[in-house]
Amino acid sequence: MSTIKTVNPATGRTEKEYPVMNESQIEAIFEKAHQSFQSWRKTPFSKRAAVVHKAADLLRARKDELARLCSIEMGKLHREAVAEVELAAAIFDYYADNGEKLLADRPLEAAHGEAFVSYEPIGVLLSVQPWNFPFYQIVRSAAPNIMAGNTVVLKHASNVPQEAEIMEKILLEAGAPEGVYTNLFVPGSKVSDLVADPRVKAVSLTGSEEAGASFAAAAGKSVKKSMLELGGSDAFIVLEDADLDKAVETAAWGRLWNAGQVCCSPKRIIVLESVADAFIKKAKAIYEKVVVGDPLDPATQLAPLSSEKALETVLKQVDKAVGEGATLVYGGKRIDRPGAFIEPTILTGIKKGTAAYSEEIFGPVLCVYSVKNVDEAVELANDTEFGLGGTVFGTDTRKAVEVARKIDTGMVYINHVTGIGPELPFGGTKRSGYGREQSADGIYEFVNKKLIRVT
Ligand code: NDP
Repeated sequence: MSTIKTVNPATGRTEKEYPVMNESQIEAIFEKAHQSFQSWRKTPFSKRAAVVHKAADLLRARKDELARLCSIEMGKLHREAVAEVELAAAIFDYYADNGEKLLADRPLEAAHGEAFVSYEPIGVLLSVQPWNFPFYQIVRSAAPNIMAGNTVVLKHASNVPQEAEIMEKILLEAGAPEGVYTNLFVPGSKVSDLVADPRVKAVSLTGSEEAGASFAAAAGKSVKKSMLELGGSDAFIVLEDADLDKAVETAAWGRLWNAGQVCCSPKRIIVLESVADAFIKKAKAIYEKVVVGDPLDPATQLAPLSSEKALETVLKQVDKAVGEGATLVYGGKRIDRPGAFIEPTILTGIKKGTAAYSEEIFGPVLCVYSVKNVDEAVELANDTEFGLGGTVFGTDTRKAVEVARKIDTGMVYINHVTGIGPELPFGGTKRSGYGREQSADGIYEFVNKKLIRVT
């Protein structure tokens, strides 16, 4: 790969190309980030917060333009892209408002004398991020670390270089000294080689299991802390007392959010046998009316997938599911127009042991499973290697919470698809990764929790 190319998935047109960085450029980036850390770590919280707040303001001021770029680079619906930019700004604000408080010394009850934990920055974080939320992903990784006094070198997905470029400019304009946040334009296949650089102190990746495993293995080899947020196969359990219409709408539209390319999308809908037919009929009625089209057109409800390759993968997964006995209730085909468009799709009857049962499908494919009772629903929900998020839908929320406690994931939402909030931790267990982003938890991942003991 000699260039990083951005292709509009709604038209197939190449929008822009960037040369892949050479060794001396990469060396200069790490050196600058390392040097910048020496002064940024000593910069008072108030000054760091001013930069981070200003970055939030700049994002908000340019949200329409930035959202349009998301639509052009990876096909996101314009209104979803606007919401993403607003969320990114809210995350900047959250850490600007709370960073100093969260990282204040924590006194300990020592047996003798005085003891406290001092939270100290560690240096350069190498962060690898995916294309599905181009702005949000950068900000949720960068904001807590910039506030903590670390510096960030970020390798964004190769199909969204323009968002990465803009974020670097926004942070500079907000007053971040050079080297506090810098992009690396290199292919994913090369980034694990950079982990061993002694100036890199920790690494973080959101993306596929394959990429995460290779990146974290490199970190393990050089004894550096890593954080991974990988795929998910969230269960959406509909309890007997759920409002069925609401449950169907939440699941069906939730699965179309970002054209289904969300790690915490409701990927396995689990309903009781008694209501399964009604649920599927209602979901089909919704999908039959979905308006598919240009992400910039306000009437559009389902935009293209992020790339031709992503479309081919999902089409193959649907075909394979049907080949292995699943029922295609609706959709499943490429739409005959330029661009990476697939119909909204419903699959039922997916059997244990088949690929569709265990794999993550990163597209607008609603997989509906029917079970006899709640115990079976919980068993099915947990019968996966993933452990990111999940939903329990029911009117009696106390009962729903009891079911939520039995789900082996990092997050469970009641009566809502797995969501995102600056103040709420985000992350998973099992093969969905480890560590938490956002919230107070997110700022403690890459700091040295140093004990100071006075005797
Ligand atoms: P990848 O994991 O390949 O891409 C995510 C990021 O990792 C990109 O920046 C990519 O760079 C980089 N990368 C790729 N290979 C490596 C590697 N060996 N070491 C370090 N970094 C690497 O995901 P894809 O975009 O190919 O999507 C494939 C699947 O991954 C999806 O279908 C979905 O299941 C899952 N995924 C999950 C996401 C989530 O939010 N959890 C987000 C995106 C994907 P480059 O673009 O240059 O290849």
